[in-house]
Amino acid sequence: MGTPQLKNCPKCGKLFLLIRNICDNCYQKQEDDFLKAAAYLREHSGITIQELSDETGVSVSQIRHFIWAGRILVDNFPNLSYPCETCGNMIHKGRKCSSCMDTLKKLANQVEKREAKAEGDRSHEQKGLAGGYISHYLKEKGEM
Ligand SMILES: [Zn+2]
Ligand SMILES: [Zn+2]
Repeated sequence: MGTPQLKNCPKCGKLFLLIRNICDNCYQKQEDDFLKAAAYLREHSGITIQELSDETGVSVSQIRHFIWAGRILVDNFPNLSYPCETCGNMIHKGRKCSSCMDTLKKLANQVEKREAKAEGDRSHEQKGLAGGYISHYLKEKGEM
């Protein structure tokens, strides 16, 4: 895997050898947090994410990460919803709530349409100018 790299840990800012995406200290802490949260959940399966965070001292966003990573299976815990990463609405699946997904889809569609249109305009120009010129030029040099 190439030469080892040094990187600043995104969690604590400490310089560390890039083996995982966070430093050993933070990794250890994350594993402790996970064990704590998972153990507590086993005993209290009807708990909300806020209660879980209050009881274990593990932050809501850290718990949410465990859920996204598939380490905590929300399906087993009826009240364990977590904030949508965009608007903070409580959700039970995925990273975003359905309304954020809708908004995103609409935006993506708009961008796509705009790009398709721009692409269309550009290809017109290119046929007339640069594109034709370059292929002509390459042909003359015997590179096409
Ligand atoms: Zn760290
Ligand atoms: Zn949302």
